[in-house]
Amino acid sequence: MTDPNQNDEDVGMNKYQLKKLVNKLDDIRGRNTELVSLYIPAGYDMSKISEFITSEQSEAENIKSKHTRTNVQDALGKIGRKVQEEHTTPENGVAFFAGNVSDTQGRPEINIWEVVPPQPIESRHYRCDKEFVLEPLKQMIVDDSVYGLIVCDKNEAAIGYLQGNSIKTAYTLDSEVPGKTRAGGQSAQRFARLRKEMLKSFLGEIADKSQTAFLDKAREDKLLGIIVGGPGFVKDKLLDDDYLHQELQEKVITRESLGHSGEGALKELVNRAEESIEDSQAVLEKQEVQRFFKNLKEENGKSEYGLEPVMKALKMGAVDTVLISEDYDMFEAKYECDNDHEKTVFEKEAEIDDSVECSECGEEMVLEEISDIIDVVAEKAEEMGSELEIISTDHEEGQRLMNMGGIAAVLRYRIR
Ligand SMILES: [Zn+2]
Repeated sequence: MTDPNQNDEDVGMNKYQLKKLVNKLDDIRGRNTELVSLYIPAGYDMSKISEFITSEQSEAENIKSKHTRTNVQDALGKIGRKVQEEHTTPENGVAFFAGNVSDTQGRPEINIWEVVPPQPIESRHYRCDKEFVLEPLKQMIVDDSVYGLIVCDKNEAAIGYLQGNSIKTAYTLDSEVPGKTRAGGQSAQRFARLRKEMLKSFLGEIADKSQTAFLDKAREDKLLGIIVGGPGFVKDKLLDDDYLHQELQEKVITRESLGHSGEGALKELVNRAEESIEDSQAVLEKQEVQRFFKNLKEENGKSEYGLEPVMKALKMGAVDTVLISEDYDMFEAKYECDNDHEKTVFEKEAEIDDSVECSECGEEMVLEEISDIIDVVAEKAEEMGSELEIISTDHEEGQRLMNMGGIAAVLRYRIR
């Protein structure tokens, strides 16, 4: 049994740290297949891993390009040394990423990252590629927000969720809309009317099931968007004739034409909508930042920025959402003197002193603890029921946030 209150010294990274690192690693591209990813689940024999790395290193002798060969061998060498330091794998396993991160043609710069993730690594995985393998880590940082999926044509429909990268089916429906051939003796008009009625009731059924599947999520703010697709006109009818509940209709981010319908087409739908999904994630981030700037402009007192004002508001429980730029790079350093005076300082990592003079008694204060600010904020936010959003700098709003210092908050109420 693990004690939930135990200090996280060897528990490894939390979700936010991991998210930050994954974003960073995701941007790195090798010029050749020279970026090494290695996942080791808990309980693995580290000496076996060591042997494996040695054999991969000699395997790499066969790489034709000298630069690539050297870079791969150096990356493996760095991982090998780390592996030798670890006698047992941490509780959740460990992952290593190493490779040349230098942007320029010249001297390579081989970096290594060691990740002890917040959830167990499921399987051993090794790859040398132009990019790092990050899927297993990305799976750990998805939250319980989902995209709603609806695939339909006149014969069948499927309703499901996309959570992170996994697709789950919620409902499958078959329609009773008959084909175009009518039975002998039926009047053409009557038959057409019947088909129309049946299609209408099928669309109503799709809308009902969608409401059951998505409306609560939407109201809890856990529905990131709805994606609708299918072959033919039924998907268009569903949307254009307002079958969906109004609150769900507003969540539709895209509609896609597909080759197939039904449960089997949910994956095709997600693939087609990939770009819209990425855009919609950026849209959510942008909206958060815009909300902050709107408050600021209106001078309604519901925006704070800068580390100390944000921390203060957070501790008061006044924060709705904290926004931290993915490029924000700040640490909290805690000092203590022999007379038990304490002091907390926010600094960039390189500028943290090992000791400072106590302003109360003049004795030396010793550095007790350093924490990444993102952890400090994440912990406080959780305690206070505030949201935390890591904001990418890939869009203009993200850069505006970075220009404001990289940390900001939207408040629930004004505090001054
Ligand atoms: Zn003191």
